[in-house]
Amino acid sequence: MNQLAAHLRFYEELGVTGINRDPKWRRRDDGKQADEAVAPAADGSVPVTIARSSVEALAAIREDLGDCTRCKLHAQGRKQIVFGVGNPTADVMFVGEAPGADEDLQGVPFVGRAGQLLTKMIAAMGFTRNDVYIANVLKCRPPGNRNPEPDEIASCEPFLFRQLASVEPRVVIALGAFAARTLLKTDEPILRLRGRVFDYRGAKLIPTFHPSFLLRSPGYKREAWEDLKKALSILGRELPGATLSPAAE
Ligand code: URA
Repeated sequence: MNQLAAHLRFYEELGVTGINRDPKWRRRDDGKQADEAVAPAADGSVPVTIARSSVEALAAIREDLGDCTRCKLHAQGRKQIVFGVGNPTADVMFVGEAPGADEDLQGVPFVGRAGQLLTKMIAAMGFTRNDVYIANVLKCRPPGNRNPEPDEIASCEPFLFRQLASVEPRVVIALGAFAARTLLKTDEPILRLRGRVFDYRGAKLIPTFHPSFLLRSPGYKREAWEDLKKALSILGRELPGATLSPAAE
């Protein structure tokens, strides 16, 4: 019931004014339901389509993004949009900040050095990248890997929220300050957010350190591993064989 209320609140925030009750739109192959909001109408109301599956929901979001020019990043050297990858019905969704140079080239999130560390962290949890879903707050690379700017986040975050609503993860792991603050709508520093577990739209949200930060400050890897273990415990999963932080290597 709490989950339903959280979803309804989320749709309200998106401006959704009603849902399609036709049962054929409510079915998903895996038994979960994925709801899919579409672009606002001229009067500002948002018609909603209940997509058949999270695969279709994610495809519709990608289509709505198109060759996005909603913020200035499209004119600042981005090569391509980096949408998201992984299991469309994942229990765990990782949210990063923005694509870097490698991601911009390949069109896939977290494939550079930070991505390699994230892949190890995922493996240490007993998952592969195909088991989880990975996306960023921004879908385009900020020039020179500068920090995301508020107007860019404002333009892009609705697409992340829609990805979250489609995947319906049980645990959201926010990687770094930008992801945690964007999702939680707070200005609190990551050092105050991390170590806590937040209720988030029917899921549990765990803020942790960004892998790029962990590469620069390996001393914090142990705390990051504690956060990942918390995620496993929420999912009721045994700790896989490795007991040390993936990042302790
Ligand atoms: N850092 C991020 O936050 N996201 C990526 O996709 C790569 C690096």
